[in-house]
Amino acid sequence: MFDINKILRPNIKNLTPYSSARDEFKGEASVYLDANENAYGSPLDKDYNRYPDPMQYQVKKRLSEIKGVPPRNIFVGNGSDEAIDILYRAFCNPGVDNVIIVPPTYGMYEVSANINDVELRRVPLTEDYQLDVDAIAERIDKNTKLIWVCSPNNPTGNSINRADVETLLANFSGLVVVDEAYINFSRQKTFIQELTEYANLVVLQTLSKAWGLAALRVGMAFASEEIIEVMNKVKPPYNVNEASQQLALEALANVDKVNGWIKETLSERDKMVLGIKDLDFVLDIYPSDANFILVKTTDANGIYNYLVQHGIIVRNRTKVELCEGSIRITIGTPEENVKLIETLHSYKG
Ligand SMILES: *Cc1c(COP(=O)(O)O)cnc(C)c1O
Repeated sequence: MFDINKILRPNIKNLTPYSSARDEFKGEASVYLDANENAYGSPLDKDYNRYPDPMQYQVKKRLSEIKGVPPRNIFVGNGSDEAIDILYRAFCNPGVDNVIIVPPTYGMYEVSANINDVELRRVPLTEDYQLDVDAIAERIDKNTKLIWVCSPNNPTGNSINRADVETLLANFSGLVVVDEAYINFSRQKTFIQELTEYANLVVLQTLSKAWGLAALRVGMAFASEEIIEVMNKVKPPYNVNEASQQLALEALANVDKVNGWIKETLSERDKMVLGIKDLDFVLDIYPSDANFILVKTTDANGIYNYLVQHGIIVRNRTKVELCEGSIRITIGTPEENVKLIETLHSYKG
């Protein structure tokens, strides 16, 4: 059913990608005078005078070992936000095509659609923050190219029912993008293992959250080889800089440390829930599969401002549909969490 050539933009199908000096000569040589770099070095301790590997081979090799997928099924971007933008640019004809988002969800799907002049069709989640599969099916037409599903979902924190995502994958002839930015905290297993099953699946992950590398801007997309090839064609040639590639590689050797933090974050999340659930102004705390909780309160603006006065910043989500009265709290260190709990206990509405 799925045919990538039916959903690719014609200009991208016919695109000849930029061919860099590093693309044209791939072997080992002793003298490189092909890229107009500074051959003397960099005014830094470390040499950054050479362009980075455009295909981030070492990083992909390590990711491949960790994730259990071949490097040819991995795209590495300047954050997963870059992968989001590239999917629009590769598959959505501006002013013609449309995509489906399921609010409340991550804001960049909408911003990127607007930047690329792509129509956005909003199909809200149900009251319990799950997919309304029938309503999604009704909004799909021949110009619908992408469906964005964030699981665990930001800002609600819950995972999306797997069977519903599989229904979309099996019946939709465009791409289903499953954004797993918070998968490391989830009880659900990743969709990466389903890549062999569904040719129209794209899974996004990132080193920005559990891996603690938000500043480096390294995100990944996992998909079929033909989808990854298209994404590589569209991306800027040197989209992930050398310092980020080297540091990501170093960090990826520390899986144990990251797993330790994940365990601690989950136990801190439980403590946070216990610490605030009985407060008068807390109406509900939604079950979370992520490193944050969405808390429904009687007065999100009042609580947000009170916390700001005490030097604590949370995310006020009260203006987001289906999140009226809610604030999103990231789980911090034990000390930070205690400070937040104590501060909330002294709040008098
Ligand atoms: C934080 C976040 C991202 C952004 O990831 P980067 O790799 O830092 O660009 C993507 N998706 C969701 C749902 C997020 O919450």
